[in-house]
Amino acid sequence: MKINSRIIMGGRRPAEQARAVNPPVHHASTLIFETLDDLMAAGHRPTNYGRRGTPGIMALEEALCGLDGAAGARLTPSGLNACALALQSVTRSGGHILMIDTVYWPTRRFCDTVLERCGVETTYYDPMIGADIASLIRDDTQAVYVETPGSNTFEVPDLPAIARAAHDRDIPVLIDNTWATAYFYNPFEHGADIQIQAATKYLVGHADAFMGVVSANTRWLPHVERTHGQLGIAVAPDDAYLVQRGLRTLGVRLDRHQETALTLAHWLKERPEVAQVLHPALPGSPGHDVWARDFCGASGLFSIVLRQGTREQLAAMLDGLTLFGMGWSWGGYESLIVPVLISRTASTWEAPGPVLRIHAGLEDAGDLRADLEAGFGRFNAAA
Ligand SMILES: *Cc1c(COP(=O)(O)O)cnc(C)c1O
Repeated sequence: MKINSRIIMGGRRPAEQARAVNPPVHHASTLIFETLDDLMAAGHRPTNYGRRGTPGIMALEEALCGLDGAAGARLTPSGLNACALALQSVTRSGGHILMIDTVYWPTRRFCDTVLERCGVETTYYDPMIGADIASLIRDDTQAVYVETPGSNTFEVPDLPAIARAAHDRDIPVLIDNTWATAYFYNPFEHGADIQIQAATKYLVGHADAFMGVVSANTRWLPHVERTHGQLGIAVAPDDAYLVQRGLRTLGVRLDRHQETALTLAHWLKERPEVAQVLHPALPGSPGHDVWARDFCGASGLFSIVLRQGTREQLAAMLDGLTLFGMGWSWGGYESLIVPVLISRTASTWEAPGPVLRIHAGLEDAGDLRADLEAGFGRFNAAA
């Protein structure tokens, strides 16, 4: 089956769930057993305790694995917690990891604080490093972490080249695939061993729940499962329900997010106020060739670099927008815009003016363009 069919069919067994189309929600901590034999026979899965997963949670894990062929998945209460779980699953005191310099900033903070306290050292690498990452791998390197495309600046790293270098030394490759989701990019086909997704974004799709997913191939799944259990991570059954509900419309939503984002990106490229559009599907964007080679599409999040702009000009532009909201997330049905700060330590980043990150929502593309056009009018009038 193609992905749009798997999105609809995954994890659903109406005959086993009172004929309901959707998996039921079980609110259960304690599970009761009829006989001593049954009590003693129940293990982790099927479970003997609600924290290890209820049927709705396991149905969602199964549906998610059906999208990209992962051997298994575990859910976490937030996307950031999924990043942390994946890293803790493969590292131990005295080790070292290689972390992409364009990583989601709270993941960087996790490495520089919690991992550092656990005795794991982090070296950041240039997102465009490719096969040269081999020169940074040490005897104590325990993981190579990739996020594609880069947070806020959207460089697309060459995952297959990075993975070849890591696998030569038997080191697992972790990837944060939140931007594309399995709909546009299957990281397991390009060398990843462990995939992280902030389901909070496109999988939930409605800006109303937090969830993270860590999935893995056969080799590395036991590490993730073990650590997930040892840390006692559990998610709310209602939130898992919202993820499976959002999942069913992932394909249609992402097709529209892609189309509207590209319409806006091409229009913004021609605006006199804009120095650069950072969108992996635009030729000239760093890593565009890798994107064109390995991805099946682009989602709705991208950035623009302005030629210049004072705080007053930005406020005049952003405060007056009608359809674009200002908020620190994305992946819901609504359009968003925020100024972003770029912080790096292993590569250089220079921009003539402010960087604005745009999430193209599901509103009418012409209306969105008109909203931004009026915004540029206020921006210029405030100069
Ligand atoms: C939002 C995001 C996260 C964290 O997800 P939360 O659910 O907000 O904790 C992790 N990685 C990326 C790439 C994200 O965009």
